[in-house]
Amino acid sequence: MKAFAMTETVFPRMPAARQRVLILSGLLFLLTGCQASAPVTSGVSLVEVNRLDPGIRLDIRYATAHNFTGHPLYPEARALLLPEPAEALVKTHRSLRGQGYGILVYDAYRPWSVTRSLWNSASEADRRNGYVADPAIGSRHNRGCAVDVGLYALDTGTEVPMPSAFDDFSERAHADWRGGSPAARRTRDLLRGAMEAEGFTVLPNEWWHFNFRDCDSQPLLDIAIDRVK
Ligand SMILES: [Zn+2]
Repeated sequence: MKAFAMTETVFPRMPAARQRVLILSGLLFLLTGCQASAPVTSGVSLVEVNRLDPGIRLDIRYATAHNFTGHPLYPEARALLLPEPAEALVKTHRSLRGQGYGILVYDAYRPWSVTRSLWNSASEADRRNGYVADPAIGSRHNRGCAVDVGLYALDTGTEVPMPSAFDDFSERAHADWRGGSPAARRTRDLLRGAMEAEGFTVLPNEWWHFNFRDCDSQPLLDIAIDRVK
């Protein structure tokens, strides 16, 4: 057999069974090694969306205790994205101006290690229900091409009511939920239409979460938020 011929060349005086164990553990090491080295820790440009357009407002919940974990996960309130989705978000924001709205960002790039600590502190039930992303797969937020957004009114500066609050885990958060007030559904659908026109796709269970075009092909990133220039 070809494979054994190769191991015999590499390990000429070793018993065949021991050779097989060595080859298998080598393969396992390669597989798990590849997975562990997946997150990129430098060399990727992330852009601060409100530096591109200061009219984009931030309410970065994971930089405060006002999130479902009850404590801050980010050292700073920053909305960072890869350059292409950042530019697309600016275009969306500008396209909404005529209707009296601006983009309000709840979350953008999230370092992979934050997803890992969320997973480690989550209950079995929350993991099973998909409320936290499995770090073995990663979240699209870890790739810098997903963003959680709502709208604010340009004249008052206040958040526009939507059918549910951000990070609501009920069916009220579904992008096509037919309940709630007609006005709230209208602004939710207005936001979705404006985002879709610039290349974003809504997550069916979260009206606020949008992925940019080829998001899944981007690498997982683990660059600390306060280290991005
Ligand atoms: Zn999201």
